[in-house]
Amino acid sequence: MCIFCKIAKGEIPCYKIYEDNDFLAFLDLSQATKGHTLIIPKKHYDNIFSLDEKIDIMLPVVTVAKALKKSLKIDNINMINNNGPLAGQTINHFHIHLIPRYDNDKVSLNFGENSFTAEELKSLSETIAKEINSK
Ligand code: AMP
Ligand code: ZN
Repeated sequence: MCIFCKIAKGEIPCYKIYEDNDFLAFLDLSQATKGHTLIIPKKHYDNIFSLDEKIDIMLPVVTVAKALKKSLKIDNINMINNNGPLAGQTINHFHIHLIPRYDNDKVSLNFGENSFTAEELKSLSETIAKEINSK
């Protein structure tokens, strides 16, 4: 059983923030900033590719984000979800990070830069849309 499944079942302790039948939110042990929180479905999904698209994880995410805003008096948050090792996923149980942002914190998110022509963007959008529309 993975470590987040064990946390969901109460077999490993966590600093719990929110719980309902389907979801759990708890402090990330390595606080990128004060209040850094993870939200997980209690059921195991490796990552976004195996996630049931009908699960409504935005309910706990928004609930926790609003609680962080009020309790920590912050107005800025990054919502991050890593899928796969190239994307930085280290725990293979789907989770969303909420990272409160503060003036001069040490968090660095760099998207890098790529330039595509309009023709390339058109072709790219069509390729992806075709996959969705073939379902
Ligand atoms: P990711 O790199 O997106 O897979 O994030 C995994 C996160 O889980 C990291 O930020 C870790 O600090 C965090 N983490 C690992 N073990 C625990 C734990 N037992 N309790 C809380 N957070 C944890
Ligand atoms: Zn799991």
